[in-house]
Amino acid sequence: MEDGLRKPGTVYLVGAGPGDPELITIKAAKALEKADVVVYDALIQKGLLGMAPKDALMLYMGKRAGRLCPSQEEINDTLVEYAVTGKTVVRLKGGDPFVFGRGGEEVLALGAAGVPCEVIPGVTSGIAVPASMGIPVTHRGVSGSVVFVTGHPGSGLNDPVDWEGLATSVSTIIIYMGLTRLPEIASRLIAAGRPSDTPAAVVSQGTGEGQQQVIAPLGELFSAARKNGIKTPALIIIGPVVGLREKFATLAAAALPAAPVSDGIA
Ligand code: SAH
Repeated sequence: MEDGLRKPGTVYLVGAGPGDPELITIKAAKALEKADVVVYDALIQKGLLGMAPKDALMLYMGKRAGRLCPSQEEINDTLVEYAVTGKTVVRLKGGDPFVFGRGGEEVLALGAAGVPCEVIPGVTSGIAVPASMGIPVTHRGVSGSVVFVTGHPGSGLNDPVDWEGLATSVSTIIIYMGLTRLPEIASRLIAAGRPSDTPAAVVSQGTGEGQQQVIAPLGELFSAARKNGIKTPALIIIGPVVGLREKFATLAAAALPAAPVSDGIA
């Protein structure tokens, strides 16, 4: 059959989970097993790629702040390019594809090109990373609300997040991509009424072997993270639930991955 007449393959937008390769879903693993092409991003543990057939084409198309990387358009075009030749394509993304993963943009591009696509949700780092440290994002009597926000300033004129509005309206604040801007974010939250002694944490490579974390009051969090050499990409957790960590980590230790822990200010 001519390429132009061939039925396009499906693109699976797959969440790979937060880092620990065992936290991928069964559905995601099954999609990987039948992939002809895997397009993966920077946060993917290499161990997961071994789930794809040996002869599958593996394409790294990751993004990292400040480094030369493919544009979203190039990624979209690549997905379409392989799918229209009838290939089954897995677009493997860290965490969940629809949580700060630009999965929605890929769905739109695939739809516009007439390529069938299926979304396979993943375990987002914003829930799994705190859990791996013994921090529940909600807890009856302690936190009845949680918000997931980006610390990235965005490309427009307006900050995508209303930090002042969030400061006292939500109990647990989980910030993705926020370490570089943490001094500004913390000052704005504190100026808008969030107590500077609110328990908080910064974690990098959460649930993975290189996990590093620091726990400190919000007002001291950035300097503690810097002192402990915490690197991006990292997740920031703010709220009284962070204070439950010590007790929970002991009680739930058996279920938590053994990761080297370096706490700053306890
Ligand atoms: N779709 C992903 C998020 C992509 S945005 C998800 O659902 O998890 C990338 C940001 O996610 C990073 O800058 C960091 O803030 C966070 N992140 C992802 N995995 C992480 C991990 N294992 N440890 C700490 N932060 C992580």
